[in-house]
This record gives sequence, C-alpha cells and structure tokens, in this order.
Amino acid sequence: PCSILEVFLEHARKTPDRLALSFEAKRYTYGELARHVTALAQALLRRHLKPGERVALYLENSPAFVIAYLGVQYAHGIVVLVNTQYRQVELDHILTDSETRVCVTGAAGATELTPLLGGLPALEWLITAEPLTASPPPSLTVLSLDTLLAEPVEERPMSVPGGSDIAVLGYTSGTTGRSKGAMLRQSHLLSNIRAVTQAWRWTEQDRLLLALPLFHTHGLMVGLHGTLYMGASVDLRRRFVASETLETLRDDPAITLFFGVPTMYGRLLEESRRTGVRPRPLRLMVSGSAPLSAQLFHEIEAEFGQRILERYGMTETIMNTTNPYEGERRPGTVGMPFPGQEARVVDVRTRKPVPDGEPGEIEVRGPHVFAGYWRREQATEEAFDKEGGWFRTGDLGLRDADGYFHITGRARELIISGGFNIYPREVEEVLATHPGVGEVAVLGLPDPDFGEQVVAVVVPAAGQPVPGVQALVDWCKDRLASFKKPRRVEFVDALPRNALGKVQKHVLRERLLPR
Ligand code: ATP
Ligand code: MG
Repeated sequence: PCSILEVFLEHARKTPDRLALSFEAKRYTYGELARHVTALAQALLRRHLKPGERVALYLENSPAFVIAYLGVQYAHGIVVLVNTQYRQVELDHILTDSETRVCVTGAAGATELTPLLGGLPALEWLITAEPLTASPPPSLTVLSLDTLLAEPVEERPMSVPGGSDIAVLGYTSGTTGRSKGAMLRQSHLLSNIRAVTQAWRWTEQDRLLLALPLFHTHGLMVGLHGTLYMGASVDLRRRFVASETLETLRDDPAITLFFGVPTMYGRLLEESRRTGVRPRPLRLMVSGSAPLSAQLFHEIEAEFGQRILERYGMTETIMNTTNPYEGERRPGTVGMPFPGQEARVVDVRTRKPVPDGEPGEIEVRGPHVFAGYWRREQATEEAFDKEGGWFRTGDLGLRDADGYFHITGRARELIISGGFNIYPREVEEVLATHPGVGEVAVLGLPDPDFGEQVVAVVVPAAGQPVPGVQALVDWCKDRLASFKKPRRVEFVDALPRNALGKVQKHVLRERLLPR
C-alpha cells in the first residue's frame, strides 16, 4: 500500500462489520465509513475537483471530519487542516496562503468565513457539515455534506493517491510566529504510523479514547491514523471535558488507549482529586505536544497507577521520538527515535554533532520528514542541512548517556545575555517552585548592554499572596547562576496559550516590547 487510505479501504473490504468509529450516539463500521468516504470522493470528482487542489477542513471533531479527511484524499485533493479556534486573521492567512478552493465547515465556521470572502478569490465552494444559521454567501456554491453523501455511489474502480502525492498541508501551531504549511506526502504519513503502531504495540483490539482536536498532528496523525491503519476503533469526542473523560476511563472496559497533552493530564488529576473518580488501568497512556513535567508524571503514576509514555513530534515530521513501550519510561525525557528514523543533537553555531550530554539543536532524518513548507522556498532551505538532509527541528535538547532525548526549549527562544546561553525552561522550572507562582513564562527581550535580558512573566498562584519582584529574583539567585536571574518580572492574570496549551511567547514579547 502507498497510503493509510488504501490500508483503511482494505480493512473495509475484509472486515466491513468491524467497528471503526463511535461519536456521541453514532457508530460507524469500517464498511459504512468507507461507503461515505467513497461517496464524498465521487461527489468531488463529479464536480471536477482537480488533483492537488486544496480542500480546507475547518471543522470540529466529528464523523464528518473523518469522512471529509479521507474523502478528499480519495479524490486526490490536498487536505488543509485549520484550527477551529482560529478566527478571521488566522483563517484569512491559511486560506490565502494555501489557495484553498473548497472549505468544509459547520455553521459557526461559515459565519466566520463570510466577511473574508471578498479577499479569497480561490475559494469557490463551501461544503457544510450542518445547516447554516445565516443565509449562505452569494459568491459561493454551497453544498451540504449530507446531500453529497446521499448521491448514489457508482461501483467502479477508483485510483488511490500514490506515495509521493501531497496528502496534507499541516499548518504549524504558530507558537513561534506565523504558522507555515508543512507539505506531508502520503508516504510520510504511512511510514510514520507504521513506526508508531509498531513501537506502541497497537493492535486491532485496541480502542482509543480521543478527545484531542483532529485538526492537529497529535489527534489526527497519531490517534486517527493509528486506528485506521490497524483496523482498530476510536471513541471520538467533540472536545475534551475532564469529567466525561474520567468517567469513560473508569466505566468503559473496552478503552485500552488514551492520548493527551500535559494540560489535559493536569485537569484529569485535579478532577480525580475532587471527585474521587479514578481511571481503570489502560494498556497505554501517551503524552505529547508540550513538555510533561516530571512532577505530573509522578503524580499520575501515584494516583492512576499509570506510567505515561511521553513522545515528541511536530507538524513537519509527525512523530520523532518515544519513550520505550517495554523499557524504562523516563520522566522529563522524550525517549529515542522511532524505528527507521534518526535523531541527533548539533551545536547551534557549528552545526556539528555534539557528544552525549551536551546541549544543542535536535535534528531528525528519515522517511517521515516532510517535503518542505508550502510556497516558502527560503524557509524550507533554512530548515534543512544541505549535506546530510537533516531537518532542523528548532528544538533545543540533548541526548543522555542512555540514548534518551531531553527537550530543553526552542532555539528561537534561547536567550543570549552577555554572551551566556540561558534556557528559559530552566529558569521557568525554578520560578515554578516558588509558592507564590502559579504559572510562569520566561523570555528574552532586547537589552542595550547585554544583548538580551531575562524577563519573567508570572501568573500568581491562586490563594497565595502575590510575591515581590525581589523575592522572585532572589529565589533564582539562590538556585541558579546569577546571569540567569530575571532582570524584569511582570505579573499577569493568564498566559496566552494556543489550542494545544502551548504558551505563545511571541504574543508576550509583543506585549512587553516598548512601542
Ligand atoms: P510553530 O512551528 O508554528 O512555531 P509549533 O512548533 O508549536 O508552532 P507544532 O508543530 O504543533 O507547532 O508543535 C511542535 C512542537 O511542539 C515541537 O517542535 C516541540 O517544540 C513541541 N513538543 C512536541 N512534543 C513535545 C514534548 N513531548 N515535549 C516538549 N515539547 C514538545
Ligand atoms: Mg514548530
């Protein structure tokens, strides 16, 4: 097979009655799902969607998402993934950048899109997954997904995409700046999920509770892909609600897998402490997308009896490294490369590999690494090492003596002050242990004498007196080299975070810079 789509269609042929997906009161077998996917693909082809044309999914988690995702690929289109929290500015950026021709969305999405239409000449059709609340924009052809799915399916051979066809434009989360479209080929998706399912011993007996958004790598390219590749099943949720998740994890013995981001694990723990509800033992709990603190790892182990498996991935490469399924899962680390993939650490200036234990930038190589950023030749060129073809992840870290990778921060966020390298995460971890600190983000701002200065942005801990600036500076001075202490401390009510719970430091930076 050349694609996950092909593997999925094969499961549908062999085991059509097997459960693939449940969502609220709906259940879809492989056979039913494949019929809808085929119907949508034929409906798009009948309306002359051309190979490689972009179809955006601006859609909440739902069966419609899954059907559209696979149906567009079956019709040889390219799926553009759009975060459902995005509003006009981000939406305009992605739809313009990708020159999207078709957008599949819901009622709220259509409302959000309407004012932008004048500036989106490439956009011709809207496929609506639910009835519209406002009258449809006159400049677009509006089709309802249900109507397309109800069109008769012709029994005829259909070609499937090849391995080198672009399947998806995955827009990066925009944590460090404007989001870029990562071009992922069918072969990237397929080879990565093969490695992931092998490493985590995924089987067709597994059932995944999936409350992560499908517009992002973690939910889609790990959760959904793994399920479809193995012929397993998924209990898909519209969104994450801690109480519901916890109850399902306690009550549904069929669930064997759960994937989350660290903020989800934090909320599950809080909720469990509040209600006394505990999950039953699962085969595997996975964390990723942002760093899982060693403390949370240990708390989950103590309270849920589960050693979370932490892995590291990104839009451009899908999954890079994983803690071992059978061996030691080491808290604070992201484990080793998946089978068939490579990772190394290089010096940020010389770009030469550094010995184990020394920090640098993580680079990865293998059949999972994307084909470049959509229409951004320069960004693509800068992202690869010319000789070896290594992809520069932009993440800082090290490999320890046992081969485990540790992530220490982002290259773009490394603070260089007076010639010293300061890793924001190290300072954040120290400040976070102060009882008056609820949350903290550390970043570098321009400084006339030192190049950059260390600035800490602090959300005071609830129910505690707000700490004094000097107290926080001293807290660092007692625990870290003096050049790492913050020169400036700002108090805020909340840190700006994106949909995956990642702190958007570029937003903080803009707020703090003098105008
Ligand atoms: P942008 O590239 O637009 O700035 P982004 O890098 O946050 O945004 P994603 O591709 O969604 O966009 O996220 C990938 C990044 O998430 C990785 O490069 C890494 O920094 C971080 N990440 C993923 N998993 C982990 C993990 N287990 N521990 C620490 N960081 C992680
Ligand atoms: Mg990134």
